[in-house]
Amino acid sequence: MILTQWLGRRRNQGMDTLTPTERSHRMSLVRGKDTGPEILVRRIVHSLGYRYRMHVHELPGCPDLVFPGRQCIILIHGCFWHQHKCKMGNRMPKSRINFWRTKLEANKRRDAKQRRSLRSLGWRILTIWECQLSPRKVEKLGERLIEFLGLRPHRASSSSGHLHRMARSGSGVDPKSGNQRHHHTSIHG
Ligand SMILES: [Zn+2]
Repeated sequence: MILTQWLGRRRNQGMDTLTPTERSHRMSLVRGKDTGPEILVRRIVHSLGYRYRMHVHELPGCPDLVFPGRQCIILIHGCFWHQHKCKMGNRMPKSRINFWRTKLEANKRRDAKQRRSLRSLGWRILTIWECQLSPRKVEKLGERLIEFLGLRPHRASSSSGHLHRMARSGSGVDPKSGNQRHHHTSIHG
């Protein structure tokens, strides 16, 4: 696949000069959809004390992160697949151009429809793009998340019965996040 080749080329070009954090970030992008970027956002959100549900099938488009008590939804989008207006999103494969154009346009229409449906149900939406998760930019993300989600819970463990129920059942709580917080201490400044 062309995108993979492209990422692979970029990886080979600069890999030796990267710090371990940057390298693991880059590798996570290479692994692709539903892995690196989403896990990174989940860890940040979790470390800020918020609790969420993942991939809620009952809602339009099965949104990535859902914060039921706050009526908030976070969508994590790959720039190429979701056609972000950035360098990565503007790249068009050199072959099978019609195929890709049709496919990517359909993705865009589907995204727009999903956002409309969610908003009409009263949800607020924050879209986080893959390019906003580069090691250089990720530091700002914490502030943005707090601004969007509202007041942080005082303590991760002290909250409503709803959150206790979610934590007990394990649904939507990334069990690994607590153990891996030390990997991302840099984002807290
Ligand atoms: Zn982008």
